[in-house]
Amino acid sequence: MILVYSESKNLTIELLHKATDLAKELKTKTIAIIIGKDDDSLAQEYIAYGADKVLQVESNLEQYKAEEYADILDHIIKDTKTQVVLIGSDKNGKELASRLAGRLDIGCIIDATNVYIKDGKVTAERVVYSGNAISVEQFNSAPSVITVPSKVFDPSPKDDKRKGDIEKVKASFEKSASIVANVAELQSGGVNVEDAEIIVSCGRGMKNKEDLKLVNDLAEVLKGKTIGCSRPIAADLKWLPEEHWIGLSGHKVKPKLYIAAGISGQIQHIAGMRDSGVVVAINKDADALIFKSADYGIVGDLYKVLPKLTEAIKAKMG
Ligand SMILES: Cc1cc2nc3c(=O)[nH]c(=O)nc-3n(C[C@H](O)[C@H](O)[C@H](O)COP(=O)(O)OP(=O)(O)OC[C@H]3O[C@@H](n4cnc5c(N)ncnc54)[C@H](O)[C@@H]3O)c2cc1C
Repeated sequence: MILVYSESKNLTIELLHKATDLAKELKTKTIAIIIGKDDDSLAQEYIAYGADKVLQVESNLEQYKAEEYADILDHIIKDTKTQVVLIGSDKNGKELASRLAGRLDIGCIIDATNVYIKDGKVTAERVVYSGNAISVEQFNSAPSVITVPSKVFDPSPKDDKRKGDIEKVKASFEKSASIVANVAELQSGGVNVEDAEIIVSCGRGMKNKEDLKLVNDLAEVLKGKTIGCSRPIAADLKWLPEEHWIGLSGHKVKPKLYIAAGISGQIQHIAGMRDSGVVVAINKDADALIFKSADYGIVGDLYKVLPKLTEAIKAKMG
């Protein structure tokens, strides 16, 4: 079996695409897991996106605790003779995967950028050394526990006629001794760069916080309206909140259009936006690294280029 689990619906759907490919090669089936929610329509949706079976795990868990979730998955893995476990690579997913692998005394690959079968072995790729190299790793024993970040795989086309089983099971786990003392919600301005289709991003080429208006104006005339930034803008200068930060240690994005203004294109920034569709770079330095990752390059002063671009797009779009 190939098990798929993530707290995020979108990520589960993306992972189901890869799980379906692996299941074909390994001549097995896919199972999506839902923990704590009795939601038949969600289960049907997972079937439409490739799950052969959905296990709805009934539990009265009040809060997420990785050790209890690892216990639940451990039982499912043993009951279903699972070969591969794909887990969404968010904060909780990474903790869950490593605890699960520890319990099962097997290997674990975090943040895979590809998963496939080579020479009969489950193989995964990871970006290492700040994006300068790709590490190819293979599992020698089963099951293989792998986490995959969002946007690595596209969902397969939805097929509402697809048939699959929905099974409700009682959660089997040992109560953890740990206590969640406090849960504080992160205050966000509702920005979600990871799902944005158009991003206008800025970097240290900006001289003042007020100049972000130039980026905002361009984002405004484009339908996406989302602005991103390099690390110094969010982490050092704090001109924008961290939810706009793109890169290795920020958000990974995959928009159809990424406009980078005044960003040098260091590998740590590229690591977060290299999967973008069309990349347009604006930089006054013709030798800036960003041009190597761009489809279109404008060599010029962003203070002159951005207003002209905004006006031109405004005129074109009426
Ligand atoms: C472990 C680690 C993790 C990191 N993670 C991230 C990350 O997630 N995201 C990230 O972005 N960085 C990250 N960094 C930092 C990264 O290495 C770079 O320092 C950073 O991306 C540089 O940001 P920048 O391009 O905005 O600034 P700079 O490198 O200072 O570049 C500014 C650019 O603006 C151009 N410019 C200046 N004025 C103008 C103008 N008027 N018009 C047009 N162009 C102009 C310059 O030619 C230059 O190319 C990380 C670093 C480390 C060590």
